[in-house]
Amino acid sequence: MISFYNTLTRKKEVFKSVKGRNVGLYTCGPTVYSYAHIGNLRTYIFEDILKRVLLLEGYQVHHVMNITDVGHLSSNADTGEDKIEKAAKKQKKSAFQIAEFYTQAFFEDCKKLNILSPDIIAPATKHIKEAIALIQALEKKGFTYKTSDGIYFDTSKLKDYGKLTGMNFEKLNKSLKAGARIEFSPEKRNTTDFSLWKFSPPTGGLKRQMEWSSPWGVGFPGWHIECAVINLKYLGKAFKNGVFTPEKAQTIDIHTGGSDLIPIHHTNEIAQVEAVTEKKFVNYWLHGEFLIFKEFRMGKSEGNAILVNDLIKKGFSPLAFRYLALNTHYRKPLEFSWQALKNAQEGLNDIYNFIYQCLINIKQKEIKIKFSPALEKIKKEFEEAMHDDLNAPRALAVFWKLIKNYYKEESEPEETYQLALIFDKILGLGLDKIKITPLSKELQLLSEEREQMRKMKKWLEADKIRKKIEKLGFSLSDTKKGTIIKPKK
Ligand SMILES: [Zn+2]
Repeated sequence: MISFYNTLTRKKEVFKSVKGRNVGLYTCGPTVYSYAHIGNLRTYIFEDILKRVLLLEGYQVHHVMNITDVGHLSSNADTGEDKIEKAAKKQKKSAFQIAEFYTQAFFEDCKKLNILSPDIIAPATKHIKEAIALIQALEKKGFTYKTSDGIYFDTSKLKDYGKLTGMNFEKLNKSLKAGARIEFSPEKRNTTDFSLWKFSPPTGGLKRQMEWSSPWGVGFPGWHIECAVINLKYLGKAFKNGVFTPEKAQTIDIHTGGSDLIPIHHTNEIAQVEAVTEKKFVNYWLHGEFLIFKEFRMGKSEGNAILVNDLIKKGFSPLAFRYLALNTHYRKPLEFSWQALKNAQEGLNDIYNFIYQCLINIKQKEIKIKFSPALEKIKKEFEEAMHDDLNAPRALAVFWKLIKNYYKEESEPEETYQLALIFDKILGLGLDKIKITPLSKELQLLSEEREQMRKMKKWLEADKIRKKIEKLGFSLSDTKKGTIIKPKK
């Protein structure tokens, strides 16, 4: 039994898939106009944990992610410049080159963080035809109107618009107006109305690189329509041989994203899909909280963005950030500091040393299938924590219990190692990559000699030998179960 906190119902609910062991999972992808920062990536780590929990439970997860490579305007409210076109101008490249470059960079970062790849990666620019079909269907049902700069969705026409936020239509309009840093177009009927199709600037204006013809004129799709249409196509199965059949759309199991997407982006995805299908769009909405750095939410515009490459440059392993992220529940803000990352790196190194220690002591190579009652209990506690709205901090505490048990010689290295690897199927800390390197005769002798010196409390001599070993390209760590010598990375 797995339960999640569902933003839509504002309570924890037991997860039940639409179709048996198959789960449709949608995660909003990046807007590819620059590198993703670790605040963005925190959301993808939370989604990765979600996916891994489902996979380990035996679900077949069909994971779809969009790539926003057009239509995301700098204001989030249908005004300002297209983020990708703007970056293209600044870097003197084509908009397509910018999108391609940062898409690749994003997936490289994900790989470094051990985030599993989606089954389908769907760029918005490859789904223009589908977006037009959806707008036409909305138009037919009377949900759209035209202004001088585009086709808009009339949010007052949907009876439960804004339900994801827990606010009614009036309240949501008011709050959006109050929170806005920009002027809303006076042609919009309601503050919450959003563009479905934006017209390219008229002749004489700045020429766009990304634009397409449509029944309403040359232009580009709005930001919210891409996720609606990509969901409908790959998970909702509402396109049969290229023909849009919204009445046949299926409800989707899980949709996720950062909590900042709730009031506008996700609210508008629901509006578009439910307006045409007249069916529930998504059963479970899961949202991850922000990352806080120096008292502010990390963001490109806030000027406090840290990239994965910044972590590497400072000598940290990207997985130390993953481990740090797992130490805070996904629905709580994560306070980032370099000191916290340093502590996380040390914690992760201790885990690696523990695995190394297990490996050294493993005598029989075969996989132990049956765990001792004590380890069975630990396994159960770990699963319960993860199944309880992905409580990774609690699961990590259980993992540390396993480590302590082992050092107290309460469990065998074989079974301990096997259980650690099972946990890591969810944690994704790369424990299966750890291999022991047999030590050369010279190193073995040096190690034994150092051990002798330490026993005799001849610390100076012991330290000299340590330096010798380090000069040979190896690192030493003294653990409760003896010294571990392994090659430096
Ligand atoms: Zn989205």
